[in-house]
Amino acid sequence: MVALSMVPFLGTVGFTASTSFSPYNYKRQISIQNAPFSFPRNEFSSSRRLLRAWPQSCLASGATGGKLPAEQSEIIFIGTGTSEGIPRVSCLTDPVKKCPVCTKATEPGNKNRRLNTSIIIRYAKPSGRCNILIDAGKFFYHSALQWFPTYGIRTIDAVIITHSHADAVGGLDDLRDWTNNVQSSIPIYVAERDFEVMKKSHFYLVDTSVIVPGTAVSELQFKIIPEEPFVVHDLQITPLPVWHGHGYRSLGFRFGNICYISDVSEIPEETYPLLENCQLLILDALRPDRSSVSHFGLPRALEEVRRIKPKRTLFTGMMHLMDYEKVNKNLENLAESEGLDVQLSYDGLRIPITL
Ligand SMILES: [Zn+2]
Ligand SMILES: [Zn+2]
Repeated sequence: MVALSMVPFLGTVGFTASTSFSPYNYKRQISIQNAPFSFPRNEFSSSRRLLRAWPQSCLASGATGGKLPAEQSEIIFIGTGTSEGIPRVSCLTDPVKKCPVCTKATEPGNKNRRLNTSIIIRYAKPSGRCNILIDAGKFFYHSALQWFPTYGIRTIDAVIITHSHADAVGGLDDLRDWTNNVQSSIPIYVAERDFEVMKKSHFYLVDTSVIVPGTAVSELQFKIIPEEPFVVHDLQITPLPVWHGHGYRSLGFRFGNICYISDVSEIPEETYPLLENCQLLILDALRPDRSSVSHFGLPRALEEVRRIKPKRTLFTGMMHLMDYEKVNKNLENLAESEGLDVQLSYDGLRIPITL
């Protein structure tokens, strides 16, 4: 693993939202508090070095994980792919056409191998590190199976939901392993509209009185969040409302000076001020050539990067047309021509941060 001295923390930029909001609980009350936080300022060249350094040391040689000091926060990408996953089964069974990206993705450790988009924020507090999961989609179990042991992740201290599509919430049932065997319950932060969906799609998790007595399902504490800042284990989270297809709302989230927007087709004007002074932008980019009705394609995502002007951008939510090596090589040219620090993320990528 890379020594922490290589992590180029060059300074600190403070960020404090003007308002905060405590979400109300659906089932139980827990106490939550405010806290200020900040993020290190990465210079362009330094952050590029960091992006290249981690995979070589942590992941390529068998993904042994390695330990960071307890006071070091980090993000781990546990999934960076679109809903059906990469490789696509249909590509591997196609008798006529050989899909180059899906073929590469069958190789263990290949960076084109992608599960449903999701990250874990490992927030270092004096009392210990909190693991805050954003989304638990259909392939959550497989992501957790691969990365939790690798990075020594034991608890899930909170889940935050971007929206209620299956690739964001399809794995909530799998959280039973944690609430049966690791911890008593998991708080889950969700917008009212998505909670209404969950009352149908996951009715037995919302109302556990319907299950057969003696059986054990995920014990989730649902907490309804509006489009206002809220606090999770002392970490202030600001929702970033976006459109994910016409008339369908999804949430990105800002924590410190990091902005995460995984499912977006349009950013409303009122959300742009929330993206100012962004150090690290994690942004939806489905395919290399064009956008779809519900996701940015790479050209549109790059337009947004030019407008938002983050220090560094990592794209996520890529489908099988996004070849990790080829696309990243092209993106490197933008560093020379425009000074843009933009790259594709990949499953297992770990980024040290300060909050
Ligand atoms: Zn394919
Ligand atoms: Zn979606």
